[in-house]
Amino acid sequence: MIIDGKALAKQKRAEMAQIVQELKAMGVTPGLAVVLVGEDPASEIYVRNKHKACEEVGIYSRVIKLPEDTKEEDLLKLIDELNQDSALDGILVQLPLPKQIDSDKVIERILPSKDVDGFHPVNAGKLLTGQTGFVSCTPLGILELIKSTGIDISGKEAVVIGRSNIVGKPVAHLLLQENATVTICHSKTKNLKEVCQRADILVAAIGKPQLITADYVKGGAVVIDVGINRLPDGKLVGDVAFETVKEKASYITPVPGGVGPMTITMLLANTLLSAKNRV
Ligand code: NDP
Repeated sequence: MIIDGKALAKQKRAEMAQIVQELKAMGVTPGLAVVLVGEDPASEIYVRNKHKACEEVGIYSRVIKLPEDTKEEDLLKLIDELNQDSALDGILVQLPLPKQIDSDKVIERILPSKDVDGFHPVNAGKLLTGQTGFVSCTPLGILELIKSTGIDISGKEAVVIGRSNIVGKPVAHLLLQENATVTICHSKTKNLKEVCQRADILVAAIGKPQLITADYVKGGAVVIDVGINRLPDGKLVGDVAFETVKEKASYITPVPGGVGPMTITMLLANTLLSAKNRV
């Protein structure tokens, strides 16, 4: 079965619009600030989509655009102001930042209680230690997609390919929290194929077009394809060879239309969570 990320995102957003109405009735309008530095076309699209998604569910959205040559100290000053702004429950700085700015410093300046992207070391540490905090949006979306299949994650063999701070590591920890037996693979993993063949749940977050072919996949596995890769002919594909793997998997996410739509949806969910914390 194909896991329809678009449909799940639509359903979650409808539920969130209802929660926003309830919060507004209590005098609280959830608010999100998105900061964009420079004019990277991909980042501009992401920021526009985030703004549109906020408006759709009734979240107040403030987009702040700064020039490419913005100084680090000026961005940090802006973050200090946004941290103090009571109209804002969440602050997101669109990455990547221009080279004169240290992204780690910027992320660490955001108050952990407003870090709805879940990138602050305090929030990453909370995930690691099993405390409640903000979890980054793509991993949260991946967990929702897996749960939407109705499978019991507890006790399953889960293999996550990729160990980035924004996808691989947090996904692995979320699955561990759900009592899966988790293996994390990366570019130095030996016998990747054999390790993947053990997986009841296989998450590919690599960034290599269609690397995961059917012979990597155990029959009946749940396969989540996080990759977004543009082929020379312009076609968008994932890290999984969808056409052949879908014949072997029990559930699989397509690209596009799988993980992507859930990422922004989870950003909205985190912003609502922050607003609820304010209440
Ligand atoms: P990174 O480049 O940060 O991480 C890629 C990971 O894959 C690394 O851990 C790397 O290993 C591992 N890797 C690379 N080549 C291989 C290989 N041949 N075999 C096994 N492991 C390998 O990428 P991200 O985690 O940021 O993103 C991964 C993919 O997901 C990208 O395509 C990205 O575009 C997409 N993405 C999609 C999102 C969405 O909303 N749908 C959101 C975020 C990302 P090592 O650590 O050893 O280098």
